[in-house]
Amino acid sequence: MSKNPDERPIVAIAREELEDTVIADLQVLTRMATLVTGLPNAFVTLADPENLPVRGTEETYCARALQEDDVFVVENVRVDERTRAIAERRVNSKIVTYAGALIKSEDGRKLGTLCITDEVSRPLDEEQLQLLRGLARQAMNLLSLRQAKKELTAALEAMTRLATVDDLTGLLNRRAFMQETEKLQKLVARQQGTLCIAIIDVDRFKQVNDQHGHAAGDLVLKSVAKALRGSLRESDLVGRIGGEEFAVTLPFTSESNAFKRLEQLRLRVAEQNSEGIRVTISGGLSELGTAAVSDSLKRADAALYRAKATGRNRILLAGEGIFDSVDPMAA
Ligand code: GH3
Ligand code: MG
Ligand code: MG
Repeated sequence: MSKNPDERPIVAIAREELEDTVIADLQVLTRMATLVTGLPNAFVTLADPENLPVRGTEETYCARALQEDDVFVVENVRVDERTRAIAERRVNSKIVTYAGALIKSEDGRKLGTLCITDEVSRPLDEEQLQLLRGLARQAMNLLSLRQAKKELTAALEAMTRLATVDDLTGLLNRRAFMQETEKLQKLVARQQGTLCIAIIDVDRFKQVNDQHGHAAGDLVLKSVAKALRGSLRESDLVGRIGGEEFAVTLPFTSESNAFKRLEQLRLRVAEQNSEGIRVTISGGLSELGTAAVSDSLKRADAALYRAKATGRNRILLAGEGIFDSVDPMAA
């Protein structure tokens, strides 16, 4: 970590994975190692825990240290029979004294070493070795803390994803969509803007399943979801709130603009062809004021119901319906 005169810096392999704070803390430990032992150089090497030793480390004193169960001390690597062969191959190496304490996980896996070296032969007493072992344990604590944090973060991310994302389409699930809409509603209200909510339902989807099978139906749902996500803005919310039912929330959008955008979406879906299957969508649109999101959703649902009753492949507005689209081809 700090000076590493000629050992291959194994830590470099793992270094990108270590947060700066962990590296800084490890550097404190290596500095302490030099102070308590009086040897000028100290560094940490980390081996790949899955596959010891890391490629390229076979030739190093640290790799040799990993074969031991306790601190590996060599007063003169050039004459000690355990290291002489390594020293002979490493002609440019200045290391004479080497001591490496194992960094071991709680379950006994050897993860790396905390090493000290000198360019001259230096005896080390038991107290110094004891301190080196202690520092290696501290290094382990640092690393396991980081590992635990990483695992916790990953688990939390996975759980959040499971709890908020619809598996098939990758869109928000119903609950997350409602929650996010409520947040957006508050944000838009603070800025005195308007926002709209719409329910979109695939027309005659049961027929798709009946004629082409459930798997093909799933692909159609995915392609509709993609069209939804693709034609709306990053800041718009898109969710799958039921089997073949989707919902969108359009922040800072007036009813008339929301209607125009949903019309574009409707046409896009009608034009696309998923595995030879064409589908249309119907939608109900409602402005979302400050009332409960579920109430606006009901109003949008009533408009959707009318869209279905009056021919499908159309978007209707809750209330007056002045922006109703009329598609002569609608079945
Ligand atoms: P409408 O135009 O009135 O909406 O008719 P519809 O056939 O789309 O509506 P209906 O509610 O009768 O049928 C919806 C179908 O959607 C029934 C159900 O089997 C299918 N469905 C629901 N979820 C999924 C899913 O995840 N995958 C597939 N393939 N089909 C689904
Ligand atoms: Mg349907
Ligand atoms: Mg439906």
